[in-house]
Amino acid sequence: MEDCYENGSLMSFEDLRKKYDLSNRNFFCYLQLISFLKTSLGPTMTLPTLSDLERLLHEGNAPRLISKVYCLLMNDAPKPGLHKSRERWESDLSITICPELWSELCHKSLTATINSRYRLTHYNFLHQTYITPQKLQKYKLEISSLCFRCGIDESSFLHCTWSCTKLKTFWHDFSDIIMTKLLGLQLPSCPQTCLLGDSTRIDAQLRKTQKKFLAVSLCIARKCIAITWKSDSHLPIAT
Ligand SMILES: [Zn+2]
Repeated sequence: MEDCYENGSLMSFEDLRKKYDLSNRNFFCYLQLISFLKTSLGPTMTLPTLSDLERLLHEGNAPRLISKVYCLLMNDAPKPGLHKSRERWESDLSITICPELWSELCHKSLTATINSRYRLTHYNFLHQTYITPQKLQKYKLEISSLCFRCGIDESSFLHCTWSCTKLKTFWHDFSDIIMTKLLGLQLPSCPQTCLLGDSTRIDAQLRKTQKKFLAVSLCIARKCIAITWKSDSHLPIAT
């Protein structure tokens, strides 16, 4: 686009015609271009400044080009999709999750276990990717938006993974057996810890091996919910 600009202003058709040896037939295309620029850039049609990525690509054969593009995409580019996941949890749990904590939770989802299936389950919980009846109904109106498991309540992700009556015993027993009896914790379990893996409020009470044990136990608990996603039964914990 910048090839059509000179000193920050859109060139006239006459100037473009001389510069690029265009025929008069291209005048209609020029009018289309003006229409597009006015719509996307506003009436002044001011050429926007280049982003870091665009500037880098303009350099052509810059040394280590792929590495530089990779770094820009991973570090500097905004990641609106990931922020949405964090904001969804903030809204669901009425809490604030600072970007540093969210970054740590995402990192934990990759390091709690070497089992890739458990890692994927944790990722799916963090980003709420499992399809709830509520989501399904958006695609097909005749599908009920009520929870698969209890069939009574609206099936938000939080309901399907935490507050459903048919999961109450599961999370109660998990808290009683793993957190209270085995780890000696006195705090009640909460969705921040169990669903997101945020152990900030209990870290000080646990040794390194206990933290690892809790993280792996939570991976297994989340996996139990995921593999019975469409079940209408209570989820038991075998003792
Ligand atoms: Zn339910």
